[in-house]
Amino acid sequence: MLQMEKMRINKFLAQKGVASRREIDKMVMENRIRINGEIATAGMKIDENDIVEIDGEKLKKTTEEKEYYIINKPLNVLSSAKDDRGRKTVVELIDTDKRLFPVGRLDYNTSGLLILTNDGELFNRVIHPRNEVYKEYYVKILGEINSRKKNMLEKGVELEDGMTLPAKVEVLSIHRDSSELKISIREGRNRQVRRMIDFIGSKVIVLRREKIGKIELGDLKIGEYRKLTKKEIEYLYSI
Ligand code: URA
Repeated sequence: MLQMEKMRINKFLAQKGVASRREIDKMVMENRIRINGEIATAGMKIDENDIVEIDGEKLKKTTEEKEYYIINKPLNVLSSAKDDRGRKTVVELIDTDKRLFPVGRLDYNTSGLLILTNDGELFNRVIHPRNEVYKEYYVKILGEINSRKKNMLEKGVELEDGMTLPAKVEVLSIHRDSSELKISIREGRNRQVRRMIDFIGSKVIVLRREKIGKIELGDLKIGEYRKLTKKEIEYLYSI
């Protein structure tokens, strides 16, 4: 038998490419995972010698080869691996036999840069707020932005789940009925940019993510995807 250090179940299965740690925690809560025939519990430690079943299916012991993509997520596509209601998911847009999952989320009605991988470790590096990875968004909002509102976004605004961290804001254009901005934030709270814009009394008309750290959408058209380069993967691992 292999003698390996035991690891928390969410970390172990994330490294196997099953799903992200967070998603695995949810699967454990839902009693979908068994270890050696017993229902798994949150935080339990396991290793290669344990028999893992997910939804009644045995997990193969081989480690899946890792794949890394970026896609320009279209509107009206869900950024998750599965949907109970049968809506199209971003994972279905990529032609692979690997079990990919998105690194973080974009709203159903947000387009732009999304990373997909079967590498759970990378997932954790990129989404952890401690890592200070800025995500840059192109945002078109209703009405004219002014310096007071811009300052509010830059300093941080009070949302129902607490103050936002300072954001970087660049005004691209101001028209009578709309303004275009670039906003960079380090957190990834639910609908964060939309809620920040609501806070300053406006509404988002268009929201598109263009960068995650140094990874750029570039000229990928809506729905197009490509593999990350070795350099880009190394960069994400250096975070
Ligand atoms: N902020 C939002 O409000 N929505 C997204 O999809 C991403 C960031």
